[in-house]
Amino acid sequence: MDYLKLNLWEIKEKLESKEITSEELVKLCFQRIKETKELNALISTCEEMALKQAKLIDEKRSKNEKVGILAGIPIIIKDNINIEGTKTTCASKFLENYQSIYTATCVQKLIDAGAVIVGKANMDEFAMGSSNETSYFGVVHNPVDTDYVPGGSSGGSASAVASYQGFSALGTDTGGSIREPASFCGVVGLKPTYGRVSRYGVVAFASSLDQVGPITRSVKDSAIMLQVLAGRDENDMTSSNTEIPNYLKAIDFDVKNLKIGIAKQFFNDQLNSEVKEKISHTIDILVKNGAQTVDLDLPSFAPALSVYYIISSAEAASNLARFDGVKYGRRAEKFSDIVDLYFKSRTQGFGKEVKRRIMLGNYVLSSGYFDAYYNKAKKVQKVIKKEFDDAFKKCDILICPTTANPAFKIGEKSNDHLAMYLTDIFTVPINIAGLPAMSMPCGKNKDGLPIGLQLVAPMFNESVIFKTGSFIEKALEGEKDV
Ligand code: GLN
Repeated sequence: MDYLKLNLWEIKEKLESKEITSEELVKLCFQRIKETKELNALISTCEEMALKQAKLIDEKRSKNEKVGILAGIPIIIKDNINIEGTKTTCASKFLENYQSIYTATCVQKLIDAGAVIVGKANMDEFAMGSSNETSYFGVVHNPVDTDYVPGGSSGGSASAVASYQGFSALGTDTGGSIREPASFCGVVGLKPTYGRVSRYGVVAFASSLDQVGPITRSVKDSAIMLQVLAGRDENDMTSSNTEIPNYLKAIDFDVKNLKIGIAKQFFNDQLNSEVKEKISHTIDILVKNGAQTVDLDLPSFAPALSVYYIISSAEAASNLARFDGVKYGRRAEKFSDIVDLYFKSRTQGFGKEVKRRIMLGNYVLSSGYFDAYYNKAKKVQKVIKKEFDDAFKKCDILICPTTANPAFKIGEKSNDHLAMYLTDIFTVPINIAGLPAMSMPCGKNKDGLPIGLQLVAPMFNESVIFKTGSFIEKALEGEKDV
């Protein structure tokens, strides 16, 4: 049996029944990481730390001591999330040698649940990008076809999970960075509700939008991961103390009377016909099983992308001000005075895309343009939120594509920034509204590239996503058997 290809919930059972030890599993995992090295999915590995943790879990198990729900399971963390004693580079030259001095709450929760952290995933520099081509550590390849991008910015996390380097990986999603790569690599990516998961210890990109979430190979795995990750953290004042349901109770349910919202804006002319066909087919399955569709109109969908690039760049410009070669980051070797030190360190440390965002952000925040751009974007954000709120008065869940097209080729959009930004058109409105959403596979195109379907729910109702997602997963799986 290829243990690495099992889902997280399946390997959990194998470890519990002692069919395999965590140490054996972790060793298999590192072998796999080496075999798939050319994908460039990881920036660093923590073999010594992982084996130590695995042995500890095995020892506890052999003594029948209580272990956590992720005990002994290898997991990967995006490299913008701090783990004490490891490097956290954000895939930037600026932080190439930065050593974390503390552990992020989300990672601590995984460790407390017994997870074994095996490595740090490659990503777009400072999580800015949709293809994982802006990493200082090189492009990441899509394991489905290595000529294609894995998506971004959590491209390393998605590529690693899709190539069986671990059973889940943490990503971050500011405008689609968990869902888009999950969709391109054919795995499940969840962006929880804004505030559901603590961001303490996660390097900030746009603080009013950022959220941490799991990438997994099944919907049930996603529910298990969120169960561990969710909750209020005193160290993150934006984290919520909204009650945490038992997410696993939502798995293996039917969809009778479920009201599915279909917003016409997601099904426009830009949508690839094969993507459209797969999404429609999935909706048909739900309807055949008792769900109803509700037509929706989200007129403010169109400006959402502009709103996103204004707000996220403004916040990024402020958040990245701390990287100056003094407080954080690699310092320029030669400089004449303090201003020159800042100037040279930032010029040498940041990549092109990051500089583009900082310039855009400072521009929209500058005194003459603040009202025209930033303030206006914040107003439109309110309208977008209200439209989603109204939509959820008529339906339980919204179904749409994650992206208009499947993965594109490496290099295809690197010089066309607008085309690159447009890949996020279906994911950013969700961040603008603070809602939870999941991307899951719903088929492949004629070239065998995965197609992602997006499930969007009202705030703090991740359960309805798991319920619908697990139903779809089972139904599509059933079709393969026929
Ligand atoms: N691709 C989007 C961007 O570059 C989203 C990034 C993200 O979600 N971190 O801004």
